[in-house]
Amino acid sequence: MAFLNTVLEPPAYGWTDELGNLSKPTNKQIVKEFFKRLNVFSDKKNWLSFLSWSLVLALVPFLGLFIFKYFSITGLIVAFVYSMIIMGTHGTIWHHRYCTHGAYTFKNKFWRFFTQNLTLKIIPEEIYAVSHHVHHALSDQPGDPYNAQGGFMYCFLADVNHQPIARNMDEASYNKCVNLMKHTGITVNTYKQYQKWGTLANPTRTVIGIILNWGFWFAAFYLLGGLPLACAVFGSAGIWAVGVRTFNYEGHGKGKDMRRDGVDHNREDMSINQLWPGYVAGEWHNNHHLYPKSARSGFKPYQFDLAWCYIKMMSMLGAVSSYRDSKADFLKEYCTPVPVVVPVAVLVADKANVLVAAE
Ligand SMILES: [Zn+2]
Ligand SMILES: [Zn+2]
Repeated sequence: MAFLNTVLEPPAYGWTDELGNLSKPTNKQIVKEFFKRLNVFSDKKNWLSFLSWSLVLALVPFLGLFIFKYFSITGLIVAFVYSMIIMGTHGTIWHHRYCTHGAYTFKNKFWRFFTQNLTLKIIPEEIYAVSHHVHHALSDQPGDPYNAQGGFMYCFLADVNHQPIARNMDEASYNKCVNLMKHTGITVNTYKQYQKWGTLANPTRTVIGIILNWGFWFAAFYLLGGLPLACAVFGSAGIWAVGVRTFNYEGHGKGKDMRRDGVDHNREDMSINQLWPGYVAGEWHNNHHLYPKSARSGFKPYQFDLAWCYIKMMSMLGAVSSYRDSKADFLKEYCTPVPVVVPVAVLVADKANVLVAAE
């Protein structure tokens, strides 16, 4: 626990105020911190956050070309499906259920690589996964990197302000951090390299990986449908990259208690099940906080879970060698009707009434 309390680089405004409550910065403080932590000229350890937002900006021209030059209804449908469903579901499959929670295992490195690169690479694994462990350990408490009580901007810019790993870890803590990411196959820095770059990810390998990934997908979509298709897909991926940053605020009730009886069974934190993230990405978030290590989060009949469909399909094909499925535990715990015990005297009295009524 102590490790997860200190694994993230604290923002200038701190996690807590002087009374130990959540430190709630103003939007101005948040934006100031955001630009400070993006500045690679003042500190090269800011490189990963800088890279991540540069990738989002690099997608804007594609969006512009799609809207103003290549717009079509078919392109719009492709853009919608790619950004909302494919990118969203992939985020759940890869970053969330695999990289963070290890909810399933791959048969070999090929299938892991295949799944990792199924979509455009935009969010660095380390930014998502390490901080997400902290989110589960400290949900809705000070230190939660996207604590919804901090407000919309607190969550929206969390990937820069609150999610990067701490820069002053000793070697033992750094090795614990490496262990969190070991199964993902990401090539990590040595401790000496970490002291120089401030990250687990190696800059050269990360950049080469992204160039190859983007190059492959651009060529594939270009060959399939020329520039109109490539621009629709790349532009819409940029919309997803911005939109996904709003999820954590909404998934924890926007700082309010929005949990509903009979829907949100987990009462330990403010997470809620929402239809839209559930249907497009399998993010039934309240269920997920109940069973974080489950490869399935949609437990009720209406809770369709596309990410689970992929994992199950890959298991049937032999590409996924094992997975955890907590559906049976959930149903047993939360959906089994409790037998009503009626005292015998009431039954006898009821029977007598029925007999009287029949006469
Ligand atoms: Zn959550
Ligand atoms: Zn999670």
